[in-house]
Amino acid sequence: MRPGTGLFPEALERLITQFAALPGVGTKSAQRMAFRVLDYTPERAEAFANAITDAKALIRRCGVCQNLTDGETCSVCASERRDRGLICVVADIRDLYAIERARNYGGVYHVLHGVISPMRRIAAEDIAIAPLVERVKAGGVTEVILALNPDTEGEATAMYISRLLTPLGVKVTRLATGLPAGGNVEFADDATIFRALQERILIYPYT
Ligand SMILES: [Zn+2]
Repeated sequence: MRPGTGLFPEALERLITQFAALPGVGTKSAQRMAFRVLDYTPERAEAFANAITDAKALIRRCGVCQNLTDGETCSVCASERRDRGLICVVADIRDLYAIERARNYGGVYHVLHGVISPMRRIAAEDIAIAPLVERVKAGGVTEVILALNPDTEGEATAMYISRLLTPLGVKVTRLATGLPAGGNVEFADDATIFRALQERILIYPYT
């Protein structure tokens, strides 16, 4: 379905189309956003456009954990106060932010940027599993916490990773259940994340 109506000038149609392509934005909202931008001063419109191009040009993945950063390493990896022996593996950057918001985690992270999904043709090689294995192989890691969503793809990805990590002799745990069924780490409240981290479940070594 065309986001605009065809009534609008072409440049305005293009702007509406761009807004309508964003997640959660319907046609009406996209039109409202585009009209708001038209009301901007030229300076403000330029700042808006620059924010998009700058974010795209400057933001990259942390060389250590794959978190987003505008430097070589992210603020978590650069911090002296974080325990580098404890790695929390998340599927998505938004999960990392959710755990950081809960403020009870003192380790570092590893962001996979996806989960294994045969349905969506996402294989293990398509996400950042290999750099995680390399990190653990490099030594100094005592525990890897798999903080993946409790759905089929999250469980399958967790199982795949734990099979790769157990021969390396590192302790592997996962978040305690308590996340709502089918619920996401991203949307869990702080207390739930706190509990899920505190009461994490041992995967390896086997007891
Ligand atoms: Zn990092």
